[in-house]
Amino acid sequence: MARKNEIQLLVDQFARLPGLGPKSSKRIVLHLIKNRTQLLEPMVKMLENFTEIIDHCQICGNVTLHSKCDICSDENRQKNVICVVESVIDLWALEKTEIYRGQYHVLGGVLSIFEGIGPEELGIPQLINRIKNEAISEVILAMNATVPGQSTTHFIVEQLEGLNIKITTLGRGIPSGGELDYLDSTTITSALNSRQEY
Ligand SMILES: [Zn+2]
Repeated sequence: MARKNEIQLLVDQFARLPGLGPKSSKRIVLHLIKNRTQLLEPMVKMLENFTEIIDHCQICGNVTLHSKCDICSDENRQKNVICVVESVIDLWALEKTEIYRGQYHVLGGVLSIFEGIGPEELGIPQLINRIKNEAISEVILAMNATVPGQSTTHFIVEQLEGLNIKITTLGRGIPSGGELDYLDSTTITSALNSRQEY
């Protein structure tokens, strides 16, 4: 097999990204080459910077360039409500509604025996400590409406048993199997407004 040249190797790297195939990757690479000064150069600089300092917020698990993310640092947000989500993409989906003004906790996945993901891997003990120590009055469990999402919800509810905290889940409008990222802001807003006690 002939050795691939650097441009083909770059196309292959893009094709590894979620949602991109070989065709769209080729188009992206050509577009970047064509727009070297306006697009490629600033992008490379940004990515370099990201590679060096991007990390997870020490409090909530959101991605951030600082030790504490913008949401955790925002003094104007409600401190007594915490919304638990599977991933940063769900956090972004909720933030887009501009309705929710509380705190978050990003698990970074769901419990899975098959993949060896237990409570520790998801930082659930830290979440429980946070809820106990930060005078939280409501925990919104906004995991996706999938079987693993719901088992994770159930597990967290069990851990919170005995604490005097309101536990809610998203209400109407979330289809079964629905992932927040695929829903429009109106549906998420309605689900937030109609959240029910677990
Ligand atoms: Zn944070």
